[in-house]
Amino acid sequence: MLADFARTGGVGVLKPGALLDDVSGILGPPVAADCFPNARKSWPRTFRYGELRLEVCRCRVIEVVALSTWTESVEIPAADGAVSAVVPTITFADVKEVFASAGARWELNEFPAVRSQFAALVELDPVGVRFTFHVPDTGATDQGGATLHTAISRSFGHVCGSGA
Ligand SMILES: [Zn+2]
Repeated sequence: MLADFARTGGVGVLKPGALLDDVSGILGPPVAADCFPNARKSWPRTFRYGELRLEVCRCRVIEVVALSTWTESVEIPAADGAVSAVVPTITFADVKEVFASAGARWELNEFPAVRSQFAALVELDPVGVRFTFHVPDTGATDQGGATLHTAISRSFGHVCGSGA
């Protein structure tokens, strides 16, 4: 699942640049996950498949795929409509192994002012994936034990309104 994210920025058919109609044709309709349930139906909108959150622009292109892994159980939809759960505690060491086996090129993105958090960026052109980790013990010198908080991929290939 994370290897998918490191390779394509998504999970299976759920990836940036895909059309929502194509995805819902395979996985069924998504759950609307707009912040305000009664808000006007304006685009871009947010949808959800399990723990995967999608931002969809007005031309129904999926622009952002976000995976939160800090919740108790992480449920991921599979192509056959079944839902699989993954272990929510994923460490930086785990993710580095995934990057290595997926052949992903990545770089560390640290914030000197924020010791409790850092990110690993994977450039997939035209998709960028940002894996954000939380450091449980800010005194730790080894980042390997930091846990994955979110993985967010964003497509840069689509210019909204171009009709593409
Ligand atoms: Zn668009």
